[in-house]
Amino acid sequence: MCGIVAYLGDKDAYPILINGLRRLEYRGYDSSGVAMMDGGVLNIQKCQGKVSDLEAHVGSQGMKGTAGMGHTRWATHGPPNDINAHPHRSTSGDLALIHNGIIENYAAIKEELMHRGHTFKSDTDTEVLVHLIDDIQRSEGVDIAEAVRLALVSVVGAYAIVVMDRKEPDLLVAARKSSPLVIGIGDHGDHFVASDATPIVEHTKNVVYLEDGEIAVMDRVNGLKVRNIKNQVKTPFIQELEMHLEALEKGGYDHFMLKEIHEQPRSIRDSMRGRLNVTKGEVVLGGIKDHEQKLVNAKRILILGCGTSWHAGLVGEYLFEELARIPVEVEYASEFRYRNPIVGEDDVVIAISQSGETADTMAAIELAKSKGATIFGICNVVGSSIARVTGAGSYTHAGPEIGVASTKAFTAQVTVLTLMALMIGQRKGTINSSQFHRLIHELDSIPDKVQQVLLKEPQIQYIADIYKDAGNALYLGRGYSFPVALEGALKLKEISYIHAEGYPAAEMKHGPIALIDEAMPVFVIATKGASYEKVVSNIQEVKARKGKIIAIVTEGDQVVKGMADHVIEIPDTLDPFVPLLSVVPLQLISYHIAVMRGCNVDQPRNLAKSVTVE
Ligand code: GLU
Repeated sequence: MCGIVAYLGDKDAYPILINGLRRLEYRGYDSSGVAMMDGGVLNIQKCQGKVSDLEAHVGSQGMKGTAGMGHTRWATHGPPNDINAHPHRSTSGDLALIHNGIIENYAAIKEELMHRGHTFKSDTDTEVLVHLIDDIQRSEGVDIAEAVRLALVSVVGAYAIVVMDRKEPDLLVAARKSSPLVIGIGDHGDHFVASDATPIVEHTKNVVYLEDGEIAVMDRVNGLKVRNIKNQVKTPFIQELEMHLEALEKGGYDHFMLKEIHEQPRSIRDSMRGRLNVTKGEVVLGGIKDHEQKLVNAKRILILGCGTSWHAGLVGEYLFEELARIPVEVEYASEFRYRNPIVGEDDVVIAISQSGETADTMAAIELAKSKGATIFGICNVVGSSIARVTGAGSYTHAGPEIGVASTKAFTAQVTVLTLMALMIGQRKGTINSSQFHRLIHELDSIPDKVQQVLLKEPQIQYIADIYKDAGNALYLGRGYSFPVALEGALKLKEISYIHAEGYPAAEMKHGPIALIDEAMPVFVIATKGASYEKVVSNIQEVKARKGKIIAIVTEGDQVVKGMADHVIEIPDTLDPFVPLLSVVPLQLISYHIAVMRGCNVDQPRNLAKSVTVE
């Protein structure tokens, strides 16, 4: 949530910052702003709206300076408006600060500062921090880096910040706790700071991921120095970025979301690469190899996630229970952490997060860890916080996902969970050798089958046009298709703002059936498999109430075709792999409906990617 970018070097900073903000806009986009240091003068420009609004506000002449910082906001405290937009300035006018996260004890600090004569312009928690740093700098007579450190000692909450001081124009100070921050080190002694590596990759591949509680000082003369909040000197660990610039461009598609949907044959293949070896008949997950026995012996698996990752976790539940015969509970990370969960040393926790920065999932991991559970992570973003705290786990290797509504990250998460379940099943002997070989051969064919599903796009567009004005929609599925129904409904809600609900098909008669009339589109996943006949009966129940049926069926199905208003055929596959195919038409339906309704599919209202606040 919220994008931070900063630059200190010998180039014009403004174009670097604007370009960086555009790349980060998927993280938050209700307002944005830039602060520039120009000959000891600190200029701030900010406004409500998108980065393009900021550019228009600043004007074509841009802003001058070779040091600066920019922010795209996702409001937590105070509405998105010009005043609440970041950067925020200190009472003295010397300091400017940008912030991602929440200062939880801001009210108490604010009151104290008001007694000390500070006045506040905005409603934000962030402004409190800049005044606090300013106050400490003056009262203690310390430099900006030390004032930041002392201020952070008294702060409770989550933050990634960058601070500039016009009294020290050759410095940038950055710090983080629970919100990500990456520092790029350029070839000419220039420095970049960003919430993720996307604004940095076009300038340098050398990066340092700041750890929790660390404060970085970038100086034109002395380069990068890192300390922690306890004032201990840290040695920055420079890593090489593996990200490629093309992965951050739309590549000819109208939207990132559409590009990412179409990337799925490749991204699923990438998730399996080096892990699934059909010729040798083995599944090996490097990141969990050393802890494999923990998984094989697990008495119970707890899967933690939020949003789409939680849906992937539900698919995981079916996979682990069927293939590995291990009981699974799937929990919303936010709920798990705020009750008194029963979790102990025999439990294995799998935490799923696309960004690897999801605040609720991170906190849930810490809780499970403190109770002795073994933790595995499934993350997409390499080097992310969750990937680092879990120690063991698997990257999904889906590549950067920029569209806020998750698509290829979901299928990559499901792919990794499938590989894990197959690996455990084989080791435990809960699937025999011939079943295992049949399963892995079929899994290997899934990327090609996803490609075939994508060819249905013109038909899906046609269906989208018919239902684009619906006020509500229902999504039904059973077994492996139930989580897909939830995911389909979430996609439609997120980007088209049509109210949609996902339900286990049989649950419909316990309530939601009351909603069905001729205006209600009902998306049903009715592929051949364990619960096919039961789903056919559920379709009849909808038909009897005049609901409109859009069914995802197995190629060649004639029975459902005879009942449904529309069918979308997908290739035949084994039950455990149906989610990887059936979710794709639902992603496309949501995408096309949203485009037809004129919605901003890549940046849906009120949402942001990488949810780093609780
Ligand atoms: N809490 C801050 C605000 O509301 C920062 C939000 C963000 O991370 O964008 O302004």
